[in-house]
Amino acid sequence: MSAPEEVSQVFDTVLVLDFGSQYSHLITRRLREFNVYAEMLPCTQKIKDLTWKPKGIILSGGPYSVFAEDAPHVDHDIFDLGVPILGICYGMQELAWINGKGVARGDKREYGPAVINVEDKTSPLFKDVDNSTVWMSHHDKLSSLPTGFKTIATSTNSPFAAIGHAEKPIFGLQFHPEVTHSVQGKFLLRNFAIDICKCKNDWSMENFIDTEISRIRALVGPTAEVIGAVSGGVDSTVAAKLMTEAIGDRFHAILVDNGVLRLNEAANVKKTLTEGLGIDLTVIDASEEFLGKLKGITDPEKKRKIIGHTFIHVFEREAAKIKPSHEGEEIEFLLQGTLYPDVIESISFKGPSQTIKTHHNVGGLLDDMKLKLIEPLRELFKDEVRHLGELLGISHDLVWRHPFPGPGIAIRVLGEVTKEQVEIARKADHIYIEEIKKFGLYEKISQAFACLLPVKTVGVMGDQRVYEQVIALRAIETIDFMTADWFVFEAKFLKHVSSRIVNEVDGVARVVYDITSKPPATVEWE
Ligand code: GLN
Repeated sequence: MSAPEEVSQVFDTVLVLDFGSQYSHLITRRLREFNVYAEMLPCTQKIKDLTWKPKGIILSGGPYSVFAEDAPHVDHDIFDLGVPILGICYGMQELAWINGKGVARGDKREYGPAVINVEDKTSPLFKDVDNSTVWMSHHDKLSSLPTGFKTIATSTNSPFAAIGHAEKPIFGLQFHPEVTHSVQGKFLLRNFAIDICKCKNDWSMENFIDTEISRIRALVGPTAEVIGAVSGGVDSTVAAKLMTEAIGDRFHAILVDNGVLRLNEAANVKKTLTEGLGIDLTVIDASEEFLGKLKGITDPEKKRKIIGHTFIHVFEREAAKIKPSHEGEEIEFLLQGTLYPDVIESISFKGPSQTIKTHHNVGGLLDDMKLKLIEPLRELFKDEVRHLGELLGISHDLVWRHPFPGPGIAIRVLGEVTKEQVEIARKADHIYIEEIKKFGLYEKISQAFACLLPVKTVGVMGDQRVYEQVIALRAIETIDFMTADWFVFEAKFLKHVSSRIVNEVDGVARVVYDITSKPPATVEWE
C-alpha cells in the first residue's frame, strides 16, 4: 500500500508562518471558513523541508521588532517558490526589512480600530473592499516603501496601511484582517487565497472524511489493529467513530471508569458507542482502584497527578489484555484525539529564547507501550470536529456536550474524595444539568457543573436542625476558555434548581452560585 498522503498534499493549501502573534491561528481558521485549507507552521520552518508545496504563504504578526537583534526571520527560499505572499503586521514589516530595511519604531503605538483609505482600487487584494474599519496592533511601522512596492491603502497613522509589489503577487497589511474587528478583513483573506493564490475552495468536512478514511487505511495497513481510550466526550468519540468507519472491528475502544465520572456515565457511554455507533468498546471498572489511591488526598495537584498516573497504569494493563479481532494481526497503534489547537500549541513559535513545547496530549503512554500514534483529528479545530461528528451520525447532544475534565468529579469534590462525596456531587450535578437542558440553556452556556464544598452549614428541614454540606453551582460563557464570564441565570431558574438539589440530594443543606469571572478565578474550583 502506498504511503498515506498528508491533507496538505490532497487539498490546495495556504501555509501560514507563525511569528508568535496571538491571532496567528485565526488566519488559518478564517481561510478554512471559506473552504480553503490552511496550515500553520513556525516562522523558522525551512522551505526545503516541506513535504508539500503551498499555493501561497502568509506571514503572521508577532511581538518582536524586525530590527531587533534576536528578531525571528523568514527563510528567504519563500521567494523562490513563485507563489503569492501576504505579510500581516510583523509579516509586512519583515517583507519591508528584507526589501530595504525601512522599518522603525513609530512615535506612538496604534492599538485598536482605524479607518483605511483604499488608494489603489485596482488591486486584486482589495476586490470588494471599501474604506472601512480595520484593527491595528503595532508600535513599529514602515518608514519608507520597500523597494519595488506601491501603496494600496493608507490610514491617518499608517501611510503604508497596505502595500503591494509592482510586479509580483507580494502584499503587506499593517492591520489584522483575521480579526472580526477588521470589518472587511475576511474579503482580503478570501481574495488572497482564492483569486491571487488560485486555491480551489474544496476543503469541506465531507471531503475530509473521505481523504481521512483513506489516509487511516493506508497508515494502518491491511493487518495492524488499533486501540484507543474514549471518555464519553466529543473528541474521543468522533475519533473512535472515524476509526471504526475506516477499519471496522480492527479498532478497539477502552473506557476506564475511574469512579469519578458523571452519573451513569459508563453505562451511557457503553450504550451510545456500542449500540448507537457500532464501536467495539470494553469498559473497565477501575473505580475502587482510583478511589483507593485518592484516599486521604486533599491537595488538588496531587489528585490530578494520581488520576493521571493511575489512568496510564490501568490503560496499559487493560490494553495488553485486548485480543486482536483477526488471527495473525497485532495491535500496533494507539489512537489519540489530539486537535489542531494542541498541535499549534506544541509547534507555535515562542521566540528565540524559548524551547518548543513537547506534546502534552500524548502523556506517558507511548514510550512504555511500544505503540505508534495515530491522530486523525490533528488538523481540526473544535467546531470542525463537532461538524465531523454530526456528519458521522453522532447525536447532537453528544456532539455539543460541555467539556469535562480528565480528573472528573475528583476536582469537583473539594477536599477528600470518597465514594459518598462523589455520589453527592454527581447527583447535584445531574439535577443542575438536567434543568439547564429543560430551560433550553445548555447551548448558551460553555460549561456548567456543580461542586461539593467541604464545609458544613446549619439548616432546618422538616422542623429538624440539619448540619450538612454546600453545593456550589458554576456556569460560564467563553469563546476560548482563556477568559470567561459567569452566566446570568434568571432568578426563577436558580430558585428551582436550588430547591430540587436541597430536596433530592441527601447531605446538602445549602446551594450557592459562583459569580466570579476568569481571571481571577479558574473555570474549575481545583
Ligand atoms: N511587534 C511589531 C510592532 O510592534 C509587530 C506587531 C504585530 O505583528 N502585531 O509593530
